[in-house]
Amino acid sequence: MSSPDVAVIGAGIVGCAVAAFLAEDGASVMLVERDEVAAGASGRNSGIVQHPMEPELVPLFDETVGHYRDLAAHRFALPAEPNGVLVLADGEPDPGGELDWLRTAFPELHAEALQPGEPTALEPAVAPHLAGLRMDTGYAVPPAAATRAFAARAGAAGAELRIGTGAALAPGGVTVDGRLVPAGAVVVAAGPWTPELVDPSGEWRPIAPLWGVNVEVRLAAAPRHALEEAGIERLFAEGGDPPPIFSLVTAAGTSSLGSTFLPREPDPEILAPRLRANGARFVPALADTPIASVRACARPLSADGRPLLGRAPAREDVFVAAGHGPWGISLGPASARRVADLVLGRPAALPAAFDPARF
Ligand SMILES: Cc1cc2nc3c(=O)[nH]c(=O)nc-3n(C[C@H](O)[C@H](O)[C@H](O)COP(=O)(O)OP(=O)(O)OC[C@H]3O[C@@H](n4cnc5c(N)ncnc54)[C@H](O)[C@@H]3O)c2cc1C
Repeated sequence: MSSPDVAVIGAGIVGCAVAAFLAEDGASVMLVERDEVAAGASGRNSGIVQHPMEPELVPLFDETVGHYRDLAAHRFALPAEPNGVLVLADGEPDPGGELDWLRTAFPELHAEALQPGEPTALEPAVAPHLAGLRMDTGYAVPPAAATRAFAARAGAAGAELRIGTGAALAPGGVTVDGRLVPAGAVVVAAGPWTPELVDPSGEWRPIAPLWGVNVEVRLAAAPRHALEEAGIERLFAEGGDPPPIFSLVTAAGTSSLGSTFLPREPDPEILAPRLRANGARFVPALADTPIASVRACARPLSADGRPLLGRAPAREDVFVAAGHGPWGISLGPASARRVADLVLGRPAALPAAFDPARF
């Protein structure tokens, strides 16, 4: 086994992008994935590259859109324009009172209120009584496409991809298949499993899994906009396990219908009919649409909702790139670029708000 400059653990969107950037900049890289490329949330998400509506995260989103444009040469096509996001609500357009804040904080979203019936005028598949908000964001993509494209790009730049074998941190490198692989640096990009790799003692646990189930359907007349249910904050505030919260994103003829937000791994087959029944409140045709497939995966949610990007606590040679929660496809490539810069000893735009040592 070779001794790389950098070992990257985890072939999700973040690990694949880190590996690609490092290899293209001349580092010898080994990317280790215990399952397969995009096995976690990076292959099973809803597939919307979306503005995060959080000021500290917006630069990561803007930069990520640019990285996705650069992926065109690697068989990944970001839509030329955003598909648009419709946030749907019963009765009134803005039950959470967010419109003024959205317009002030993020004028680039061109947020507008839609009275009952107006969402249906935009998207005939939507139930006619619904009102809502429309925002100019949201590029719909097949969920695993960007991760696979970055993995191919890493391989094309000379990275060694070791797929189907787990890695663990070891002094001076990583163990792979029970053997020590010395490495100059290690990037842990293992999604919700990152803390247990960095600190097997169990003390450092700033990222927790938030499990989501998605159902794939093929609608005869799918909406172009990404659709979301209004009031996600209220559902969380009620305490306990929130009920399924509707979302529908369509790319390449397949729609991802979601989703759940659960602290424990759910049985996706039990939840799939509930997701479809909930979805039919917003898109009535879902009631009669067969479920093509069902998938579950975990959002790597950090304790303060911001990613962890930088050196691991107490380890000079170990870097962390994880904790993007519900925004990993939307922000991950820019985070990866910044961690790659740090590993390479270049100036990296990494504010203290993202420092893993804040926990
Ligand atoms: C239902 C759902 C819908 C979502 N929809 C969206 C969306 O529309 N837009 C958006 O921006 N985000 C979305 N997200 C969030 C997004 O999917 C995640 O934030 C992102 O995929 C996380 O990427 P990651 O690379 O950090 O981790 P992961 O994708 O979890 O990748 C980590 C990888 O590390 C591997 N690994 C773990 N331990 C080891 C080990 N010891 N050795 C080797 N490999 C290991 C795992 O197998 C995995 O492949 C969604 C998430 C969910 C759950």
